[in-house]
Amino acid sequence: MLVGTVREIKTHEYRVGLTPESVHELVTHGHDVLVESGAGLGIGATDEDYRKAGAQVVPTAGEVFERAEMVVKVKEPQPVERAMLRKDQILYTYLHLAPDAEQTADLVKSGATCIAYETVTDAHGGLPLLKPMSQVAGRMSIQAGATALEKAHGGRGVLLGGVPGVLPARVTVIGGGVVGFNAAQMAAGLGADVTILDRNPEVLEKLGTYFEARAKTRFSNKANLADCVAQADLVIGAVLIPGAAAPKLVSREMLGTMKQGAVLVDVAIDQGGCFETSVPTTHAEPTYIVDGIVHYCVANMPGAVARTSTYALNNVTLPHALRIADLGWKEAMRRDSHLLEGLNVWNGQVTCAPVAQEHGYEV
Ligand code: NAD
Repeated sequence: MLVGTVREIKTHEYRVGLTPESVHELVTHGHDVLVESGAGLGIGATDEDYRKAGAQVVPTAGEVFERAEMVVKVKEPQPVERAMLRKDQILYTYLHLAPDAEQTADLVKSGATCIAYETVTDAHGGLPLLKPMSQVAGRMSIQAGATALEKAHGGRGVLLGGVPGVLPARVTVIGGGVVGFNAAQMAAGLGADVTILDRNPEVLEKLGTYFEARAKTRFSNKANLADCVAQADLVIGAVLIPGAAAPKLVSREMLGTMKQGAVLVDVAIDQGGCFETSVPTTHAEPTYIVDGIVHYCVANMPGAVARTSTYALNNVTLPHALRIADLGWKEAMRRDSHLLEGLNVWNGQVTCAPVAQEHGYEV
């Protein structure tokens, strides 16, 4: 199959759909790969790296869209990219169509076969192509929180791990899923005093078994939350209720109970945020202060560590890309119902029930 990847054009997106190593895998499987010149620069991969991996580097995205049978990307196609999609071409990328009627209509019109990373499932009911980004955001949340705790950033001047003779910082993680687990791992690794709250007893049990004495777990109810938030130097918001806006678990009133200069990192901001005072911020200006509490609410945290994020993403997207290229998408999906869940648009029809429902298409 002729597979292609292009430079991402969404603002501040530095990741890339295929690393040189992924290109090499595809080439080893007997496929040809087209790469737009400069596609990998955001992760430090040069055209020469892609050539060495066996790709043909072409000057424009237009040439990739014109020739490739499958285009592998990171972000949803932007309007100029959607206009280049062809009937029967495979698009394999994050799409997030439910809130995006315009994109859905363009993809339907294109006739292309559009496979969305975010709806591919696994045998445990998880979303394996979303998971690495939650891992990245969870780990980054502690880095971001540690920086915001510094005086120069408005924080209370506390080092997460303390030093011998001085107590470590208290870190409260609300939500013990993928983000929360990874945040707790980082915070505990740095020597902070970590408490994780979740309302799912099974999650609490797993966390308890994993962390033993390195982190405490607490059931998430109003009283426990209020207590942990009031004591914390750093609070990480990591809750998710699938398909719903994040619940507002920390009210503005609760900020008054917190220590001045404490920090809130709202990772759940992409679902509206779990603190009442959260508003989305960007990497250019990641924090702001409300009632003396520093807020970090960047909606695309993994973008800041584009190289790590790209490799983490390729680790999970490449196996499916290889099977699609080896077998053709129909046979690959016939053999793997989890990949079939990723099919969102095909031949002018919406094939993902929630997206169809949202925008009034027949499935
Ligand atoms: P997950 O499903 O793995 O975990 C969510 C956890 O929240 C679950 O364990 C659930 O039991 C718990 N929860 C739900 N309601 C709760 C409550 N009231 N109190 C305590 N716990 C509660 O989800 P995840 O992958 O960890 O993602 C968490 C959030 O982070 C999502 O909104 C996700 O979209 C977001 N995210 C943001 C970024 C970013 O760049 N900002 C990146 C990746 C993920």
